[in-house]
Amino acid sequence: DTIGANLDRAVAAWPEREALVDVPSGRRWTYARFGAAVDELAYALLASGVAKGDRVGIWAVNCPEWVLVQYATARVGAVMVNINPAYRTHEVEYVLNQAGISLLFASLSHKTSDYRTMVEEVRHRCPQLRETVYIGDPGWDALVRRGTPDLRGELQAREAELSCDDPINIQYTSGTTGFPKGATLSHHNILNNGYFVGESIAYSEQDRVCIPVPFYHCFGMVMGNLAATSHGACMVIPAPSFDPAATLRAVQQERCTSLYGVPTMFIAELNLPDFAEYDLSTLRTGIMAGSPCPVEVMKRVVAEMHMEEVSICYGMTETSPVSLQTRRDDDLEHRTGTVGRVLPHLEVKVVDPVDGVTLPRGTAGELCTRGYSVMLGYWNEPDRTAEAVDAGRWMHTGDLAVMREDGYVEIVGRIKDMIIRGGENIYPREIEEFLYAHPKIADVQVVGVPHERYGEEVLACVIPRDPADPLTLDELRAFCEGRLAHYKIPSRLRILETFPMTVSGKVRKIELRETYAE
Ligand code: ATP
Ligand code: MG
Repeated sequence: DTIGANLDRAVAAWPEREALVDVPSGRRWTYARFGAAVDELAYALLASGVAKGDRVGIWAVNCPEWVLVQYATARVGAVMVNINPAYRTHEVEYVLNQAGISLLFASLSHKTSDYRTMVEEVRHRCPQLRETVYIGDPGWDALVRRGTPDLRGELQAREAELSCDDPINIQYTSGTTGFPKGATLSHHNILNNGYFVGESIAYSEQDRVCIPVPFYHCFGMVMGNLAATSHGACMVIPAPSFDPAATLRAVQQERCTSLYGVPTMFIAELNLPDFAEYDLSTLRTGIMAGSPCPVEVMKRVVAEMHMEEVSICYGMTETSPVSLQTRRDDDLEHRTGTVGRVLPHLEVKVVDPVDGVTLPRGTAGELCTRGYSVMLGYWNEPDRTAEAVDAGRWMHTGDLAVMREDGYVEIVGRIKDMIIRGGENIYPREIEEFLYAHPKIADVQVVGVPHERYGEEVLACVIPRDPADPLTLDELRAFCEGRLAHYKIPSRLRILETFPMTVSGKVRKIELRETYAE
């Protein structure tokens, strides 16, 4: 299916069921109303001259209009470009020009971000940008009014021209390891991926999915929106940007059955002082993904948030995103120690990063993915595409993994994060997992910093549970002594209040490494 055809199917099957709830504004849409609102906006895009393949940007925090733009652009065959709401003028100017965006949808403002002022500042340096429409501004209503139902025939004609393999979305990677890259994705890429992710956690029209992760990122728009709508489930928006208390309030108020987050979000929710007061008993499942999921956190999510069927996903923007996922009947050991098994219709393999030869099970190497989910390419960057996707259409993930005998895959770390100390390869992930068990540690990141003699040495950056009683380096070393090989024991410690984060909630290790390089 195209995304438009798939939405039509959902509207026909579940017209009266809720499709979308925006908790902050109290607005709600059934599938019938949601389908009609998408059509209305699609007509408006046609009336505004949006042609097939035109790039339409969206630079906004989570809100219902984000979702309407997602489906309406897919309907008319435009390429929606997701722009990180944390970007500032320099970055947004880059994306507007790199992707050649002609129509931009943007939030007016959120917290300290004044999007309108920022757009005004860069607009004259973006020759392809014709129009900007602000969400919640009279300009939005004016745009919607341009669309009239007599454009129905034109919309049908447009949809008849679309192919499942057309590009419809450019998603920039998180920028965890460097400058973000624009992965170009088709209907087929992301709709199928959303559908199969939903299948793995058995979504149906009974499910209500709380989505506190940003829509701009694949976690929100594919594993959230597309997984939900392809199964008739309801998308619940708890807040414009992540807020742990608002998230749990939304779960309680909207009786959500599923909750998403990167590990740091679940940690923030579990650590709320009034955590025990939220009624989370309607939850049965959810997805934790995006970065390594500490075992201790997983156990608490299962036991204290009632998410007995919680699933771990592994993926990347370039593969739509998910390629590996745990299933509901996997035991806790497999759901904490691994990222599950390959999704249907995809292939994965683990290769030697140097010569590309497939390694035997049980050996660490670079994970590669192949199948319907692999992106069309990086937008206008054929050289970087060729580095990532080889001639056999295998996506080289840059992640180190081990495939167990039973086909379950463990992610060991990123090739770029690996610490090489005196010739020994050290995977920060392993040390982080070990340190999470320390009672004085709330959160921890391990990175390599330059060292004259060893090349690199191990630095632990710790957020203490009690800032008045932080961990000392001696305590840290005593905890590790005799339990970790000496070369893995951190020789440096930094106590921090927060970590530098990407908007998708990932710790920017590269920034920790650079900041503490001296
Ligand atoms: P950039 O490519 O710009 O440096 P990024 O790789 O973080 O940023 P994304 O595409 O959002 O951008 O994230 C994909 C990466 O996230 C994977 O390559 C992997 O390193 C990490 N990741 C995703 N899921 C998991 C998981 N379940 N466990 C461990 N790591 C994960
Ligand atoms: Mg990446």
